[in-house]
Amino acid sequence: MQYEDFYRRSIESPEEFWAEQAQAIHWHVPPQEILDYSNPPFRKWFVGGQTNLCYNAVDRHLEERGDQLALVGWSTETDSVRELTFRELHREVNTFAAALCSLGVGKGDRVVIYMPHTVDAAIAMLACARIGAVHSVVFGGFAAHNLALRIDDAQPKVLVCADAGSRGGKVIPFKPLVDEALARAQHPPVHVLVVSRDLAEVSLQPGRDLVYAPLREIHADAEVPVEWLESNEPSYILYTSGTTGKPKGVQRDVGGYAVALALSMWSIYDVRAGQVMFSTSDIGWVVGHSYNVYGPLIAGATSILYEGLPTSPDPGIWWKICERYGVRTMFSSPTAVRVLKKQDPEWLRRHDLSKLQYLFLAGEPLDEPTADWITSALGKPVIDNYWQTETGWPVLTLMPGVELKQVKLGSPGLPSPGYRLRVIDETTGEDVGPGQKGVLAIQPPLPPGCLTTVWGNDDRFIASYFSHFREQLYSSLDWAIRDEDGYTFILGRTDDVINVAGHRLGTREIEESVSSHPAVAEAAVIGVHDEIKGQVPVVFATLRQADGDAAETACQMMRTVTEQLGAVARPSRVYVVGALPKTRSGKLLRRSLQALAEHRDPGDLSTLDDPNALEEVKRALERGADAGN
Ligand code: ATP
Ligand code: MG
Repeated sequence: MQYEDFYRRSIESPEEFWAEQAQAIHWHVPPQEILDYSNPPFRKWFVGGQTNLCYNAVDRHLEERGDQLALVGWSTETDSVRELTFRELHREVNTFAAALCSLGVGKGDRVVIYMPHTVDAAIAMLACARIGAVHSVVFGGFAAHNLALRIDDAQPKVLVCADAGSRGGKVIPFKPLVDEALARAQHPPVHVLVVSRDLAEVSLQPGRDLVYAPLREIHADAEVPVEWLESNEPSYILYTSGTTGKPKGVQRDVGGYAVALALSMWSIYDVRAGQVMFSTSDIGWVVGHSYNVYGPLIAGATSILYEGLPTSPDPGIWWKICERYGVRTMFSSPTAVRVLKKQDPEWLRRHDLSKLQYLFLAGEPLDEPTADWITSALGKPVIDNYWQTETGWPVLTLMPGVELKQVKLGSPGLPSPGYRLRVIDETTGEDVGPGQKGVLAIQPPLPPGCLTTVWGNDDRFIASYFSHFREQLYSSLDWAIRDEDGYTFILGRTDDVINVAGHRLGTREIEESVSSHPAVAEAAVIGVHDEIKGQVPVVFATLRQADGDAAETACQMMRTVTEQLGAVARPSRVYVVGALPKTRSGKLLRRSLQALAEHRDPGDLSTLDDPNALEEVKRALERGADAGN
């Protein structure tokens, strides 16, 4: 099959195309109508159809692959491996579902899951799905403040947490954070259910808090019937990364999501029943939802959940896991690869990776030096994916399951089925031609799998995504260029633009240029106010070798940018730092750098990963630039 034919059918005959794809999942009641778009921009897929995510992910496979591995939880942090077959997973999910029911959780009730990246978290998610409860997973690395905000937005009946998480060998007790969050929250849950990993003592508030272990015993043989949901009822809420501001509560449906994931598993990731997928994401992000839990399980594949740093106990750990389980497709992020890039590529070559076919990367721009490094170290196709929490599955990628197209460095590739992409001029609102820069937009109706609304806030849904252009088009405001062959290049976010003496420069372009210097590990570029030019680029960079000559390298970075992009893009200052401020999902928090560089309050830092990175930046600013003035 040719990609072009496949994609064209999805655009020209969407109802026929999606009706066909819908057959990949189990429907308790088949859909009565494929698409209802009578109330734009809201749309409904598979109207009247009744299905269930847990049934499709677990029950459906019992007969044919009950004894096949469903989930593997590999933890470097606790030095443990937990393997569950589909049958064992079915057992655990039923037990957990029964425990939730005993706490009064039913269809439509929200359950906040605040847990590390473990099999238990996946069990909790699937148990919610089974009984029609709406889960909202909050990344286990978030602090009490972030947790409280999400609790108040979702208003859960129950909060499920672990006793502790662990990062780089450091145990982080969760329960005190939960207690603090509940003290702050306006709408605290009725119950807190603690799943203990024997990592930390927990103190319980009588009447409110319970430990899961005794409930697990009580409900050890429970059979909890599946709650069949109408295709458009909510399955979960998941908050965006908050790179640009207050996170948005993305609401996902049931049927459209299951169908889109089923399609993406074979066509994009080329993974089918019985094969193995390893995504290094965390369960707290959309990749964790779609490609650690629901996608692989719906496909009848084995999914690997890895808890730990990519470099511990040594930088070969991911590849060791690939070898052990015969991983076919791996999924990670450029940030994680950049961590490995600081290590010897020999670590990859020590393991038998003959079963591994592809590495997919998503979440942020994949710079060419990183892409080159990992491609040559791995010797397999490295495929960039562009998508968002909102879309739930890739918007742009290559689809080796349909036809393996040529990788073009710097581009995440071609549109996934059902995505009608447009590149729009931000001022005129007209489509721009090939090779011209514009804002990436999706012509509604959004395909199955994408968000149905912002939780509890339809107005914010319309205001955030559909009100940027004359026409009602969906956009999360990323710059893009489409070339003659239809490959789309993502140039960064529209708010990441610097205006130097009337020239509009994307921070991404300058970052790429700085990163092309072999000594640079990573760079962040911001525009800082300048009396004469309006704004000037300022660079913050980390070096691959901490003991490199900062001043000399900084001068070379300036020369590199000037040579590659012209004098207009020449950084006015370069600061070499030990770490860059990022969100917990690994995205550069340029707005915090910007604020510090302009002596402003950095504002809401609740999504910041490592406060030390910001301290480093502050110190660097006080100390003065390594190059420039
Ligand atoms: P918020 O919407 O709260 O500001 P966020 O946009 O970072 O946060 P996510 O949904 O995690 O939340 O990230 C989606 C964004 O990440 C995209 O809009 C895009 O800017 C960026 N992105 C994702 N994948 C890629 C990619 N392959 N190449 C370039 N950018 C990417
Ligand atoms: Mg966004």
